[in-house]
Amino acid sequence: MRGLRLEVDLDKIGHNTRELVDRMGHRNISVTAVTKAMLGVHGFASVVSSAGACTLGDSRIENIERMRSTGIDTPMLLLRSPAPSQIDRIVESGAMSVNTEVDVLSALASVARSAGRVHDVMVMVELGDLREGVMPDQVVETVRHILELPSLRLAGVGANLACRNGVEPSARNMGVLSSIVESIEETFGVGIGIISGGNSANLDWAFDSEPGRVNNLRLGESILLGREPLHRRPIAGLHTDAFVLVAEVIESKRKPTKPWGRTGQNSFGETADLDDRGDIWQTILAVGRQDTDATDLTAPSGVDILAASSDHLILRTDGQMRPGQEVRFEPGYAALLRSMTSPFVSSPACRAL
Ligand SMILES: *Cc1c(COP(=O)(O)O)cnc(C)c1O
Repeated sequence: MRGLRLEVDLDKIGHNTRELVDRMGHRNISVTAVTKAMLGVHGFASVVSSAGACTLGDSRIENIERMRSTGIDTPMLLLRSPAPSQIDRIVESGAMSVNTEVDVLSALASVARSAGRVHDVMVMVELGDLREGVMPDQVVETVRHILELPSLRLAGVGANLACRNGVEPSARNMGVLSSIVESIEETFGVGIGIISGGNSANLDWAFDSEPGRVNNLRLGESILLGREPLHRRPIAGLHTDAFVLVAEVIESKRKPTKPWGRTGQNSFGETADLDDRGDIWQTILAVGRQDTDATDLTAPSGVDILAASSDHLILRTDGQMRPGQEVRFEPGYAALLRSMTSPFVSSPACRAL
């Protein structure tokens, strides 16, 4: 295999999943493996399912449909509130969906009723990160609406932190989630099955604190990259190198560090750093912003990333390189996400069905 590619070690992903399922299991917390960065590819879904993930979570119905059509029968959770244009497909998929809007809930209920189905929903509660979620004082009203619709089943209550503003999961905000669950149960005399406290950013909290009513976490980055996302610290015993982005050299020349001529903005609206650091080996790889996030790649030793345009990644290398030579990078989550979704990056282990 040559050319721009993302190499994936599915054995490492399986190991990370088993470890997290096991460690969370000791705290009575089940694991939903989040597949969204992997485009719902069969190999990934099947590895994390066999490794003990009870559910697969994805933010796109397209990925859920892809997993279903390739024979994955693990229960699935749509992690993003249903887009009204996709309600039919979401009900048809049989996945549970997270929800925050009563009109969307009504639309799901009406499609489910006509199809003779019951659609499972998880109500998301806003706990301060200011992305999705019903404000805490409105949760009871949202639940009342769900319970009045017989084609919907209230399967869970969840929250999501640390995605927009980096708000940390804590004893306090997780305690609020537990007490909201209890007030729903008391008000309506129902039991809530799944209490999904958050994502990989919840792991430090989950290792150190009493989980209260929380009995599920939705884990993406920690399974893929073996890190917790709040401080991007490696998690002991997990692999942090399951992915490698490989790109090839197309030019390598001795050049000055300081551009010449009058300068304005570059193609991305940035202005150049004009320091003169003498001549260097400047090496260009056939990969760019279309394919990855250059600021989120870890370069091997002897290589510094200087800049990236749409299709060129510009490096300082210790010596001259030959066109066709390859350089291997470890991608962070943002780089990984973009590489997986670029049609120009092949991914042998993962795209194979
Ligand atoms: C992406 C996402 C996750 C997974 O987050 P990680 O930090 O990758 O573990 C969990 N829940 C929701 C709602 C998400 O959108």
